[in-house]
Amino acid sequence: MSSSITSTPALQRNVLLAPHTTLRIGGPAAYFAEPESEEELSKLLSWAQREGIPFFIFGNGSNVIFEDAGYEGLVISMRRFRNDLIRMDLYQLQVTVSAGVSLARLVRFCQESGLAGTEFLAQIPGTVGGALVMNAGFSRHGGQRNEIGDLVHEVRALQKDGMPVTLGREDLKFSYRHSGLEKYLLLEATLKLWRRSKDQIQNEMKANHDFRKMRQDITEPNAGSIFKNPLGLSPAAGALIEKAGMKGKRVGGIQVSEQHANYFINLGNATSADLIQLIQEVQKAVFHATGITLEPEIHIAQKN
Ligand SMILES: Cc1cc2nc3c(=O)[nH]c(=O)nc-3n(C[C@H](O)[C@H](O)[C@H](O)COP(=O)(O)OP(=O)(O)OC[C@H]3O[C@@H](n4cnc5c(N)ncnc54)[C@H](O)[C@@H]3O)c2cc1C
Repeated sequence: MSSSITSTPALQRNVLLAPHTTLRIGGPAAYFAEPESEEELSKLLSWAQREGIPFFIFGNGSNVIFEDAGYEGLVISMRRFRNDLIRMDLYQLQVTVSAGVSLARLVRFCQESGLAGTEFLAQIPGTVGGALVMNAGFSRHGGQRNEIGDLVHEVRALQKDGMPVTLGREDLKFSYRHSGLEKYLLLEATLKLWRRSKDQIQNEMKANHDFRKMRQDITEPNAGSIFKNPLGLSPAAGALIEKAGMKGKRVGGIQVSEQHANYFINLGNATSADLIQLIQEVQKAVFHATGITLEPEIHIAQKN
C-alpha cells in the first residue's frame, strides 16, 4: 500500500458494513472511510485510483445492501460529508445542500426558513446524495408523484476519475426511482423551492407523518420498499405480493413484512443470500400470479 494514504486519517481497515445499512446486512469492507471534506474525499479517490482499488460510495445505507462476502475495495460513506452545510438564497428561493446532509435536517431547515417543497422527504431516512441518485419520492395521493428530482436546479459532482462537473437541469433525466446519477460522486445540489408559511409547511409534514405511521410503522430493520411499483394502471408492488400469497414468506433470517408486503424485515440474522433468494422467490410468485415482473428498487453494491 502507498504511504500517502496515511495522510487521510479517515481510512479504516476491515469494517463490518451491516451496521451502516438500515437492513443490517453485509460483510466487511477491506477499506472504509467517512470523509468530512472535499479535500479528504479527493485524497481517498486519488489513492484508490493510484492503487487500482475499486470503490463504492453510499449515504445512509437505507436503499443499498452489501454482500455477505463484503467489499474487496474502498467503501466511502458520505454521512459525515459536510453534513451541516445548507446555504439559502432567499432572493432566488434556492437552497444549496451538501450530499451528506440528512433529509430530515434539510426539511427542518426549509420549514424554519418558510421555504416549501421538501416536506415529502421528511420521513425518508436517507442523505441528500442517496435521495438524488434514487430520485426519492413520496405521496399520500395515488395519482400524484412528489420526487426530489422535481426540485433540482443544479447538481455539483465529481466524475469517477475525480474531475469536477456541474450538471444543470437540462443535463438531468429523472424518472421514477431513477436519475442516471449513480455514475457520479455527488457533492451538493441546489434545489428550487417556494415560499409558504411555516405553519402550513408544518401541517403538511404532520399529514405525511400520520399517513406513514398508519401504514409503514415497522420497527424491525428494513430498507423501505424492496420493489418499484409497476408503472401504469397496475396495483402497487405490495398489493401484487399479497395477491401472490407471499406476505409473511420467510427465507432464513429475512421475511416479507406482515404489515406492508413491499417491506422485507431482518429478523436478526439475515444474510444477503437470504435476501436475494427471497427477492427471486417473490418475483417468481408475482409473475406466476399476475404476469408482472417486479423490478428491485434496492441497490446491491457493485465494484466499479
Ligand atoms: C423506513 C424506510 C422508509 C423509506 N421510505 C422511502 C420513501 O418514502 N420514498 C423513497 O423514495 N425511498 C424511501 N426509502 C428508501 C431510501 O431511504 C431512499 O432511497 C433514500 O433516498 C436513500 O438515501 P441513502 O442516503 O440511504 O442512500 P444509500 O442507500 O446509501 O444509497 C442509495 C444509492 O445512492 C448511491 N449514493 C448515495 N450517496 C451518493 C453520493 N453522494 N454520490 C453518489 N452516489 C451516492 C449509492 O451508491 C446507492 O446506489 C425508505 C427507506 C426506509 C428504510
